[in-house]
Amino acid sequence: MNKLKETCRDVAISSQSRGSEAGEGSAKKRPGDRTKSIYPPIETYWTLPPQKGDKPPSSSKPGVKSLLAYPMKVRDSLKKIGRSKSMQIVLQGAHNPKDEQLVESFRKLLFLEGQLPAKHNDYHTLLRFLRMRDFDLSKSKEMFLNYLKWRKDLGVDEISKEFNVEEYAEVKKFYPHGYHGVDKYGRPIYIERLGMVDLNALLQVTTIERLVRFHVAEQEKTLNLRFPACSIAAKKHIASTTSILDVKGVGMSNFSKPARQLFMEIQKIDSSYYPETLNHLFIINAGSGFRMLWKVLKVFLDARTLAKIQVLGHNYLSNLVEEVDPSNLPSFLGGNCTCSDYGGCLESDKGPWNNPEITEILQAVSATEEMDTFGANGGEPSQDVLTSTMGNVQDQEDSLNVETFHRNKLASEKILALEASLEDAKMKIEALEVALENTKVVLKGLTQLIEDLKD
Ligand SMILES: [Zn+2]
Repeated sequence: MNKLKETCRDVAISSQSRGSEAGEGSAKKRPGDRTKSIYPPIETYWTLPPQKGDKPPSSSKPGVKSLLAYPMKVRDSLKKIGRSKSMQIVLQGAHNPKDEQLVESFRKLLFLEGQLPAKHNDYHTLLRFLRMRDFDLSKSKEMFLNYLKWRKDLGVDEISKEFNVEEYAEVKKFYPHGYHGVDKYGRPIYIERLGMVDLNALLQVTTIERLVRFHVAEQEKTLNLRFPACSIAAKKHIASTTSILDVKGVGMSNFSKPARQLFMEIQKIDSSYYPETLNHLFIINAGSGFRMLWKVLKVFLDARTLAKIQVLGHNYLSNLVEEVDPSNLPSFLGGNCTCSDYGGCLESDKGPWNNPEITEILQAVSATEEMDTFGANGGEPSQDVLTSTMGNVQDQEDSLNVETFHRNKLASEKILALEASLEDAKMKIEALEVALENTKVVLKGLTQLIEDLKD
């Protein structure tokens, strides 16, 4: 694990090196370049260590899969599963000790400023902001504070409740886009058919402002539902999206002012407030018109984002199927899926996040988290009861070095609070010491004055 991370830190991917594949393997090592390092996919850090004994990942291995197949006799057992260590690793990922230290420092910094709401005191959220700013604490802090302010100003927490189905259906008709399945790694796939956008019709049924809010609602759903659900399905931590942007017919001429406005606004939101959530973006069907436009658009994208984008012409399929199985690819992109039951692939929102068994587990986990937050657990370390729920089967995942990664949230919050008040007390003592020193000097002066007067 540590070794893997050491390598990752020094890796810089140049935009040119993305040619063949987006995988970790295409990373070029440029040890001298420390200024613009682009990190490999965020999940790289959280891949579970290999199993002992070289057993093939067969169905004999107990875990989430068999858990899903297991008949749930007692509903309550779900709550216990939420506490299981293997589930926590899947959902939280394995923490790298080095990262953990940096995240702790970041946490402390935000906490001392009174700028760390419990809801956003999440390891991966903080790590994403740190990564985006090359682990510069003060720059990450600035970015994070902007993020909190933006959420408050826009009312992000309420945003997903405000859309009705009819409006969304209309929007999708003139702006075909949606999430559809997972890539080979297990990440959600986002597809947008930009070339088919009818902006005039779209702006009859909605506004740019509403479209931006749609986008934010989808991003929130991805973070809060799609990533955790994909993590459970893939049995490893998933935290980024693979996107496909079909730009057939897009060129300078149809990139009108409202289209530019929408692009800029969404781009700003994604890079400033949802950093490090893109794994790979395939731009497909790029003709000469788009390539000209791309030269202009590129200027507005930062190097880290650009390195994740691959612009492909009409022969894109071989590149796509390297990362996406044809069964997860809609037929209009050359895959096998039609989602005919749902009126098309972009309508279906198919993926592990719509699997009722998985969403039920997620609900149980979040209920457990709430309980922990309110201290119902009394600060006791969580027990892994996944194994006992499933009978006397030993869960190999739990033999992994979980203790290293697993932290009691409540305990660490208490420690943080204590550290902060200790820091505060220290500063006050220092201030008192200075004041005492000053008083001493004044007293000395007065004594001298009295002595002088006596003489
Ligand atoms: Zn489909």
